[in-house]
Amino acid sequence: MSNSEVRVRFAPSPTGHLHIGGVRTALYNYIFAKKHQGQFILRIEDTDRIRSKSLYAKCIIESLKWLGLNYDGEPIYQKDRMDIYRKYAEQLVKGKKAYYCYCTRDEIEKEKLKAKEKNIAYRNSGECKKYMGKEETMGSRSHTVRIINDEEEDYSINDYIRGTISNNSKEFDDFIIMKSDGTPTYSFACVIDDHLLNISHVIRGEDHITNTFKQMLLYEKLSWIPPKYAHLPLINGPDGKRLSKRHGATALLEFKKKGIIKEAFINYLAMLGWHPRDDKEIFDMDFLIDNFELNDISKKAAQFDYDKLNWMNGEYILNMDIGKKLNLMKEYINEYTKTEIDLSKLELILKTMAPRGKTLKEIWDLIEFLFIEPKSYEKRIDTKFSETLLDILEKIEFSEDEISTAIRSYSQENDIKLRKIAEFIRLALSGKKVSIGIFESLFLLGKSESIKRIRRYINE
Ligand code: GLU
Repeated sequence: MSNSEVRVRFAPSPTGHLHIGGVRTALYNYIFAKKHQGQFILRIEDTDRIRSKSLYAKCIIESLKWLGLNYDGEPIYQKDRMDIYRKYAEQLVKGKKAYYCYCTRDEIEKEKLKAKEKNIAYRNSGECKKYMGKEETMGSRSHTVRIINDEEEDYSINDYIRGTISNNSKEFDDFIIMKSDGTPTYSFACVIDDHLLNISHVIRGEDHITNTFKQMLLYEKLSWIPPKYAHLPLINGPDGKRLSKRHGATALLEFKKKGIIKEAFINYLAMLGWHPRDDKEIFDMDFLIDNFELNDISKKAAQFDYDKLNWMNGEYILNMDIGKKLNLMKEYINEYTKTEIDLSKLELILKTMAPRGKTLKEIWDLIEFLFIEPKSYEKRIDTKFSETLLDILEKIEFSEDEISTAIRSYSQENDIKLRKIAEFIRLALSGKKVSIGIFESLFLLGKSESIKRIRRYINE
């Protein structure tokens, strides 16, 4: 395979939010294109006028941008290409490879019911073939366009992942290629576009295997050569059940909102169905481009595990240099909290606090109180020592060392458990039961603000 021949596409339908499965398909296509210095095309499959929403198309584009999965050229919108699909449908009708079907929805529903009663799959009878060549005499009667499928042909694909898979066209009927509203069905538009866009490899979910055979038939009728195929395994939750919201798999941008960083996300996503030969777990895009092979993708369903993703995200944050961490936190705070922050203060916080938090959101939740006074307290505790502790804090310099020495000796001299003091200080300063270390907290908040908050907690 010469590299210049590689052109792949990601072809989402904008009928809902982009999910894990879709974005993994995008990622594998992107890596494959980069590996072969090929092109990666974004095709928005928005032929379904009712279910497609431009908001979802925008979200798809935004998600790809977030992850840096940049497509070549402008996105292609199928809704702008209706004339093309109609032209090819007419060509097939003229060539007696397709025909107008005048069956009404009601008639079809009745036939479907009959098939159900007999416990057999519904197949269109193909009766409307009798009108072939008489289209003009039918006037403007509503019709679909069906492909003629009566040759019982065996189709085989040599799938990169699944090896040779075959099917016979008798498994399906004269299926519809143009709906009665003049829009193409998914498979028809897909074949026309994959051909016209010179797509060399179709990499998509294995839920499309049945469609692939229908598409093979369409390629044959159009006298075109089909692309090569790789059908990706499904993604389940850790319990082996179909991925759903309860596994934490929500719309893609929710991961960003939860403070997952793109490098960790891509790393994790890549491993849903593929892993490097040496079992390395943490790697970047360059490594993926060098090492990724379609042949190495597993046939087995992958398992999406939110905890594992969080763990990986934590590893990335832990090993990140301060400049990058500062930038990411700044962007996160700007985008999701609308809090005005002083950058040098944020830098000091990130440099001072012991590594904690697996996601940007967890870090923000831990440090938010350093920017915003708590509005309420998760717990109220009565302490007899609070006033004397305040006296001590009033007297010392607020360096981390001095704070630590003073509080530790106060704890020892008065036989009060450090844990008890920490709980009190934590609640007073942050309102929360969990926060960063108390010495760090006092130091970062500064003397007057710390004392003010402790007083407020005691007096409120
Ligand atoms: N629009 C289809 C989907 O979202 C695309 C399938 C394909 O890649 O051909 O599943």
